[in-house]
Amino acid sequence: MAAPYRLLVSDMDSTVAETETIVDMAEALGITDTVAAITERSMRGELDFRTALDQRVMMLQGLELSRIEAIAREVRLSVGAEALLDACRAAGMRTVLVSGGFDLIADLVGAALGFERVVANRLDFENARLTGRMLEPIVTAETKLAVLREECASLGIDAGQAVALGDGANDIEMIRAAGLGVAYQGKPMTRDAADLCLDDLNDLIPHLQPASH
Ligand SMILES: [Mg+2]
Repeated sequence: MAAPYRLLVSDMDSTVAETETIVDMAEALGITDTVAAITERSMRGELDFRTALDQRVMMLQGLELSRIEAIAREVRLSVGAEALLDACRAAGMRTVLVSGGFDLIADLVGAALGFERVVANRLDFENARLTGRMLEPIVTAETKLAVLREECASLGIDAGQAVALGDGANDIEMIRAAGLGVAYQGKPMTRDAADLCLDDLNDLIPHLQPASH
């Protein structure tokens, strides 16, 4: 019997990566609390995603490229993330990482887990230091949904055959659109939108396998 799903679109921060990587970057500048507070408000849907992102990236101005590369190498993957991606490959699913985080980190996390495509925000550098800006277009909730739809179209499948996985407010639209929308350690709003709420990524694996009967 064929596997029930053909596509996984997943968030990165606090989903397949254990932390909010923007907070890891703030740590390098000693401004963790300020940045974490904005992240929390954004993830709870209290602060517009774009405004929150712009504010935080501006606070990271001056951070060296080499420090970000070092942070990227040290990102901890969530428990079960590797097993989940292995299971997707075994089920013949295409895997796409969509992140409101940053390309330097998402590219490494994506490669470590074997994602076939990575979509993330692109940081702007001058003299190997962050300018405090990102390159347009910014990855938003709408981008995540658009990537899901675009991937379904190119696979010739219905959104019902897609799995969307995330924890935050900007994952809600893709979670609603997917046949299996999954909240992993999700914020309340995200859990409300999901078909399935999990605290362990391993618990998603049985849903990807063909029914045994
Ligand atoms: Mg997240």
